[in-house]
Amino acid sequence: MPRYYITTAIDYANSNPHSGTAYEKIGADAIARWKRLQGYDVHFLMGMDEHSMNVEKKAVAAGMDPEAYCDGMEPKFTDLWKALHISNDDFIRTTQKRHIAGATEFFRRCHAKGDIYKAKYVGLYCVGCEAYLKDSDLVDGRCRNHNTPPQKLEEENWFFRLSKYTDAVRRHIEENPEFVQPEIRRNEVLNVVRDGLEDISISRSTFKFGIPLPCDPSHVMYVWFDALINYISAVGFPDDPARFERLWPADLHVIGKDITRFHCALWPGMLLSAGLPLPKSVWGHGWVHYKGQKMSKSTGHLLDPWDVIEPHGADALRYFLLREIAWDRDGDFTWDSFTLRYNADLANDLGNLLHRTLNMMHRFSAGTVQAASEPDPKDGALAAHLEGCFDGVSAAMDRLALSEALERIWDSVRRTNQYIEENAPWTLNKQGRTARVQTVMANLATAMEYLSVLLHPFIPQSAGRIREQLGLDPAPGALSRAFVLRAPGGKVREGTVLFPRIETREPKGN
Ligand SMILES: [Zn+2]
Repeated sequence: MPRYYITTAIDYANSNPHSGTAYEKIGADAIARWKRLQGYDVHFLMGMDEHSMNVEKKAVAAGMDPEAYCDGMEPKFTDLWKALHISNDDFIRTTQKRHIAGATEFFRRCHAKGDIYKAKYVGLYCVGCEAYLKDSDLVDGRCRNHNTPPQKLEEENWFFRLSKYTDAVRRHIEENPEFVQPEIRRNEVLNVVRDGLEDISISRSTFKFGIPLPCDPSHVMYVWFDALINYISAVGFPDDPARFERLWPADLHVIGKDITRFHCALWPGMLLSAGLPLPKSVWGHGWVHYKGQKMSKSTGHLLDPWDVIEPHGADALRYFLLREIAWDRDGDFTWDSFTLRYNADLANDLGNLLHRTLNMMHRFSAGTVQAASEPDPKDGALAAHLEGCFDGVSAAMDRLALSEALERIWDSVRRTNQYIEENAPWTLNKQGRTARVQTVMANLATAMEYLSVLLHPFIPQSAGRIREQLGLDPAPGALSRAFVLRAPGGKVREGTVLFPRIETREPKGN
């Protein structure tokens, strides 16, 4: 079985996850689930980034030890990921022994290569980015990402000789179009790399909550140098070479567009220095805006994912974000657009299709799949449409065009509703054409099963409920292009409402 190793960014432990954080995990989860359906041996990694000045400050302010503070933050993330049915196989914390061992060994290799040196650095530092800013990072003297004024810092730090890898990184990006995706991110990174990469400061002596440098324990590793290594320390570097060999290089790092540069310029430079292979691909997704504005931790303009999950279920949030916000650009969440999508797509198109199908199966077919003894060209047309949908979804997923894949699936949901209209089973039933009614029912039951497999990566819980109501195992079953009629004899359950219609209800305090 071919393997597929996918990661998301690890999140800072100093604030709660919001819907933008969730969007990244949901998208990566849809990809991981699709790959599993395709037969890949998937390894899906997520985690929490703990060492930093900000975490130390937050902990001190709360009168806590930083590690205890992070222990308290972990469930804020993992409870949400569980509620959203994120299927990650591992969750790494950068305070874990395996990560400290990995980062320490990695540093040693770069140091032995002559790529780490000590020097004085003066620059403008953004605490939010945990990085020194360049002129191009500033808008009116403020950080472009955080809209806060940077601090002038002067420090004697350890540096990584990233400049040495400028040409190698540039060539790698130029020669491997899939390395940085989507295209817009690739162009941004290429511009940065073509301007020449600067050496970067990778240590701090101003705080203690970090991994001490093997060559100078009075310094701890700077956050990016520490954090990026999680992708390899989680899969056996350096203590389990067989596992590491099997899983590395990663097939896909899913990250936000604001940190593309760290993943596509710094990370490859670090790996080249340490003599390790580069990841195959990095995808920098866009941002989820909320009511037309960027979400921001500092202003508190945030959509709390629980505000959607608690009243409407995880799949409602998963569906909206994946359908409405194209995976390669920014998009917007408003309560009106959410309600509209939910009612039109989930409650009407999909929910009604299932409900009608099950009702008619009980009325016309004794709640059982019967033999399809009276076929009609309309059946073949539906089957051909669904097989075309399979091809469209597969092609879209190959390009990681997640919203396009959902568009294709909904096209087929509507086409299946149309199949009901054009066959009018209630009329056939009145005419006493039992064999034809039962054939239509067998086709419908098969179409619903077919759709449930395609829906699984996006709305896994609902796909499982659809299958249960159809009398099937809730696990998605095999991915197969061929539309093969269900064998007679299978019983279906009474239909229950999958997605009750909703009124716009914006939570108080938003
Ligand atoms: Zn910033």
